[in-house]
Amino acid sequence: INIANEGIKSLSPYQAGKPIEELERELGITNIVKLASNENPFGFPESAKKAIQAQLDNLTRYPDANGFELKQAISQKFGVQPNQITLGNGSNDLLELFAHTFAGEKDEIIYSQYAFIVYPLVTKAINAVAREIPAKDWGHDLDGFLKAINDKTKLIYIANPNNPTGNFLTEAEVDNFLNQVPERVLVVLDEAYTEFTDAKERLDSFELLQKYPNLIISRSLSKAYGLAGLRIGYAVSNPEVADLLNRVRQPFNCNVLALVSAVAVMKDDAFVAKVAENNRTEMARYEAFCQQHGLEYIPSKGNFITINFKRPAQPIYDALLREGVIVRPIAGYGMPNHLRVSIGLPHENDKFFTALLKVLG
Ligand code: PMP
Repeated sequence: INIANEGIKSLSPYQAGKPIEELERELGITNIVKLASNENPFGFPESAKKAIQAQLDNLTRYPDANGFELKQAISQKFGVQPNQITLGNGSNDLLELFAHTFAGEKDEIIYSQYAFIVYPLVTKAINAVAREIPAKDWGHDLDGFLKAINDKTKLIYIANPNNPTGNFLTEAEVDNFLNQVPERVLVVLDEAYTEFTDAKERLDSFELLQKYPNLIISRSLSKAYGLAGLRIGYAVSNPEVADLLNRVRQPFNCNVLALVSAVAVMKDDAFVAKVAENNRTEMARYEAFCQQHGLEYIPSKGNFITINFKRPAQPIYDALLREGVIVRPIAGYGMPNHLRVSIGLPHENDKFFTALLKVLG
């Protein structure tokens, strides 16, 4: 079979978790608690449900190819211009679009060790050269990034907070970094989890856009907004960058139901506030639990926490599954001793705590 480039040969399939129903059938148990994919524990927001119901009689026509309503909603919420926005079929779609639009074979793309798995995936798919910078305390070593920049560098991916580690870079750190990156190199700041960071610490990243025309901010509606199943995300950049992205993307990459739901939740501040508040109080319980039981964890600003068992974690994952709790093994990220646990509702987290203590004996 002819393939476009050698990079494609080195790809391995993305390992997504199995659906709960399939696991329940396989294991012969019910009421499995899934804390594996950093999804929203409150379920699908009512505001989005209403928007979908109102749209059900009108799914015959193509979606608005330019996502006018959603761009208006994003623009009003964040004070950016509609011509700065690119919509994606999930932010994964956008992360791939950035690579397709701005890098080619043999160009270099920089990201961190333990970075989100989609960055190496899209880099290999276009046969670009991956410059994976060794992590510092499990997070981004931005000085290492700066040293790796050369004439071939086209793109830099930074997730903040990072998945799977939860590490966080402050606004001063990101600002100082951007200040030293040559303007011809595009920097993607992937903020899929930003809504979970306390407001006083969260980056004012749209402010940074005013200073750095090479910055692209990528956001997801899969996490705090609860729309993972619909696939919708957005990028905000300078209009020139957005114009290029909007030429390359598929014309109808966001479906009608995703678009109307996203408009509804963008205006549903109460939902997002409730989600963030649960995350804040439950994260504190996770930290207290780990401290009490001598478990090492990576402090996280996301909606998940990564625990270091200091021995292969797969058997612990398997045993938790038999107790009806799914978490995420992250050996594929080069972290075989860790498990990543998504922060759930209080009763789900209780079930995890009980199951883990039983499993660890
Ligand atoms: N970026 C990061 C850092 C993520 O962890 C995820 C989801 N796992 C995404 C982007 C993609 O999210 P989505 O495609 O659902 O918007």
